[in-house]
Amino acid sequence: MDNENTSPRIGRPVTVYTMDMRKACRSCKETKLCSEFYWQKSNGVDGTIFRHPMFMCKECTKKARKDDILKRGAEINKIRKVRYRKDPNKFRQRTLEWQRQFPEKMALIKLVRYERMKGAITAESSLVTRDWFNQLIKSQNKLCFYCGKNLPLESEHIIPICRGGKHVRENIVASCRACNASKGTLLLNEWKPHL
Ligand SMILES: [Zn+2]
Ligand SMILES: [Zn+2]
Repeated sequence: MDNENTSPRIGRPVTVYTMDMRKACRSCKETKLCSEFYWQKSNGVDGTIFRHPMFMCKECTKKARKDDILKRGAEINKIRKVRYRKDPNKFRQRTLEWQRQFPEKMALIKLVRYERMKGAITAESSLVTRDWFNQLIKSQNKLCFYCGKNLPLESEHIIPICRGGKHVRENIVASCRACNASKGTLLLNEWKPHL
């Protein structure tokens, strides 16, 4: 079987992979079927495109992504915000494109959001609008409800949704990211803001 081919990109023999071949994952060092790797396309210098498995197996990739997202969640959000401010239209366009490209992922995100909010929605929830929230921020003098710092504010459920809190005006304050994140799923009497 002739698996060796000259890569148009790097100009030296490389393995031309097929799904049923085996390859070692560079992260977990296990030898796995190529079908257990995500595949990627690379451009050759002559304009041809060739497909090959990535250097990590799917399992390791997922784990790396999860670790990465958890660790860098706040950073990623910051980067997204900067990108958004640079060119809001382009950013929106890209988001829409992504949503069109991965409808099943989008459906899952919506389902998770819905499941999370389901028990929290009441008749009064429709009164929680952007305009109302902007008013709330003004009434708090643009300061975090908990720590009183002048930081970008987001809506925070005083009684977390997962603890039975409702998505209504009475249960929402404007808080900074740090307070919101550290309060998490705690009730007020279980949590102290670090000032
Ligand atoms: Zn692996
Ligand atoms: Zn705060």
